[in-house]
Amino acid sequence: MADQKFDIVVLGGGSAGYATALRAKQLGFDVALIEKDKLGGTCLHRGCVPTKALLHSAEIADVAREGAAYGIQSSVAGIDIAGVLGFKDKLIDGKFKGLQGLLKANGITVIAGEGRLVSPDTVQVGSDRITGTHIVLATGSYSRSLPGLSIGGRIITSEEALELAEVPNKVIILGGGVIGVEFASVWRSFGVDVTIVEALPHLVPNEEESISKQLERAFRKRGIDFSLGVRFQSATQTDSGVTVTLENGTEYSADYLLVAVGRGPATQGLGFEEVGIEMDRGFVLTNERLATNVPGVYAVGDIVPGLQLAHRGYQQGIFLAEELAGLGPVVVEDANIPKVTYCDPEVASVGLTEAKAAEKYGAENITSYEYNLAGNAKSSILGTAGSVKAVRLNDGPVLGVHMIGARVGELVGEAQLIVNWEAYPEDVAPFVHGHPTQNETIGETMLKLAGKPLHAI
Ligand SMILES: Cc1cc2nc3c(=O)[nH]c(=O)nc-3n(C[C@H](O)[C@H](O)[C@H](O)COP(=O)(O)OP(=O)(O)OC[C@H]3O[C@@H](n4cnc5c(N)ncnc54)[C@H](O)[C@@H]3O)c2cc1C
Repeated sequence: MADQKFDIVVLGGGSAGYATALRAKQLGFDVALIEKDKLGGTCLHRGCVPTKALLHSAEIADVAREGAAYGIQSSVAGIDIAGVLGFKDKLIDGKFKGLQGLLKANGITVIAGEGRLVSPDTVQVGSDRITGTHIVLATGSYSRSLPGLSIGGRIITSEEALELAEVPNKVIILGGGVIGVEFASVWRSFGVDVTIVEALPHLVPNEEESISKQLERAFRKRGIDFSLGVRFQSATQTDSGVTVTLENGTEYSADYLLVAVGRGPATQGLGFEEVGIEMDRGFVLTNERLATNVPGVYAVGDIVPGLQLAHRGYQQGIFLAEELAGLGPVVVEDANIPKVTYCDPEVASVGLTEAKAAEKYGAENITSYEYNLAGNAKSSILGTAGSVKAVRLNDGPVLGVHMIGARVGELVGEAQLIVNWEAYPEDVAPFVHGHPTQNETIGETMLKLAGKPLHAI
């Protein structure tokens, strides 16, 4: 391949990079997308899609196990882990083929190879120089560990956990954030003894506190053990197991230790600093319009500090392409991006927590209401406990919606429209929600906050 010139060169073909490429191409730019591994990146191959496939297998195990409660004679004869992994891999294969076809059909030039930024307008791939009027950095993230804790053997990250060809007896999970609680949920449904170690006082600590507490109750009921508020000290492993010691001296032993303490930016050795790009602990700093300090160089996705979510990456990619086309797109703040944790029960939220809203507007200026799913027929049919909590500015818009319960991830679509359109509960209250659906819980919450509750107390 000879040296080539494009309008836009995107380095990294994950969610953020390929979304940038697709929207840019639609807007008439000539686009190159450089990928060293597989198009689709973490989300498709090692993140969102495989974890949700495992969670679906886990849900089927739970449904089969609980059949008797619904008058169905069913049980779980065993977990065929090869079958579980086969289902996951087939799903990924299909989506991977689909994505490759989509990029091809859109006329995007995909360049296979590892790229390195060698100047503000050039990425080198092997001996080829790919030049762009605009360069978009989208190299994504990797699983972090803690100082002194090396990954290997029985100490694994989510990458190895997704390929584990056995159902272990016992697992310790370091980190009670999204990835940690999702794996805890899968393994528990498969019959594994699970212990989560979280240094902060709650599971899913970035969520509304009352939702975290309900998740802890639900996990306890499911037999998932956890230690909160105590820090990890050390881990040792043998051929057959691993032992974890906490700072208070507590010891846990298990077959595996899953390290789920967050994801770091994959930016090391790619030439970004040498070109003068401002960085912070490996993250690429941008302004709110995703421009770095070096003219012509932009960044999207997990390498930009903030929420590390695939749909944030998509949105940033679309935003940036439109920005480069001069369309002046609207900035969506991280707080207004929906978050879903797909454990059982699910957790979903958008906007400010009650504590954050009180900090920003003053506790006396906000009102919140938490509707219990026990009052919702569809949730009772599904046998799920949980709640929907909304926070509003008094005589003002809804600032945040926070939910827990089976399938509440599917409700976050309406919640994000309410929050992002700055709707008042009074605006939403007249609209109708089908009965019996779990959507009604959002309607009931809005009716209550608008001062005219129907089933709410
Ligand atoms: C276990 C797990 C579960 C998750 N579940 C969810 C979920 O349910 N929902 C959700 O929204 N998010 C989820 N995420 C997060 C989501 O996967 C990421 O936010 C998303 O993939 C980030 O997209 P990205 O494009 O920034 O980076 P990535 O997807 O990491 O893509 C970066 C790409 O760049 C390539 N690359 C890197 N360096 C170079 C180079 N020098 N040259 C060429 N190519 C390069 C990489 O090979 C990779 O393909 C999950 C993550 C994990 C780990």
